[in-house]
Amino acid sequence: MADVSDSPCTSGTMQESIHIRMLRGPWRAPVLHPERVFKPAALITHLGGVARGTQLQQFGVSRTTLSREVAAGRIDRLRSGVFAVPGLSEDLRSAAAHGGQLTCTSLLRQHGIWVLPQATEPHVWMGTKGREHSHPDCVCVSHFYRGKAEMGSVSIERALVHLYRCQGDEAFFASFESAWKLRLLSAAGRSRIRASLPKYARWLVDLARADADSGLESLLRRRLHILGIALNCQVRITAVGRVDFLIGNRLILEIDGKGNHEGVAMRHKDLVRDAAASHLGYETLRFDYAQVIHDWPTVQAAIIGALRRLRDYA
Ligand SMILES: [Zn+2]
Ligand SMILES: [Zn+2]
Repeated sequence: MADVSDSPCTSGTMQESIHIRMLRGPWRAPVLHPERVFKPAALITHLGGVARGTQLQQFGVSRTTLSREVAAGRIDRLRSGVFAVPGLSEDLRSAAAHGGQLTCTSLLRQHGIWVLPQATEPHVWMGTKGREHSHPDCVCVSHFYRGKAEMGSVSIERALVHLYRCQGDEAFFASFESAWKLRLLSAAGRSRIRASLPKYARWLVDLARADADSGLESLLRRRLHILGIALNCQVRITAVGRVDFLIGNRLILEIDGKGNHEGVAMRHKDLVRDAAASHLGYETLRFDYAQVIHDWPTVQAAIIGALRRLRDYA
């Protein structure tokens, strides 16, 4: 009959790797057998996919065990004293090898949050005084922002604050609205982000909404707000349908996102909507991604021209 005192403990998420010897007699704390407590790969996964050797040693994983696991290919050594599980994303591996935490645009993209199109180098938070480590193929963008960086990635909240510092108002605003729309920001989280921004930038959080359908819409709304033009979003008009934006009560703005309005059938549908809107006294302006991003002066002039025309003929 098996001695139950040698049976592995089977509770918790790392059940198969936890080994506890229960002592007989009056209750005493379980004695942990360090070498058999946690399988290093499972422990590193639990810690976010990357961890320092000193951190792992606190869980009873010895240097010898780490070397053996690296040799067996069950874990990777990213640099001296830093270990990762195989299959970790390239950005996370680069951030750890570089000496910091993945943040800013790189972290937000990993969560599916809309980020202004741009280069895709890993953005790495080094803390106030972190030390950059050289590693193969390093193209990292280091952020020496306040605080102490650890391993792995930062929270979405911190990444958004870093994004504001790195890329400014517009990129922050679009990603903030995208994260909110994806239900990745709580009310408390939004308040903490607001408090972390410089006072002159907090209006961005106040202007943001939970229902922006695309980053382009966010950009457009913020830019028009600066011109003193308020937009109504996702307005339903009888006989036309739901439009992206309505300025005042007669100017419709439609923003065609990437790939959303391709094809003859969709084009026809848009033309039918525009005709119905015109019949009801609306004017429709349509812009695409490239225009809003790369030719804003033309978009702005068209909107102001249309508003003037509508006012003159009111
Ligand atoms: Zn690097
Ligand atoms: Zn950045």
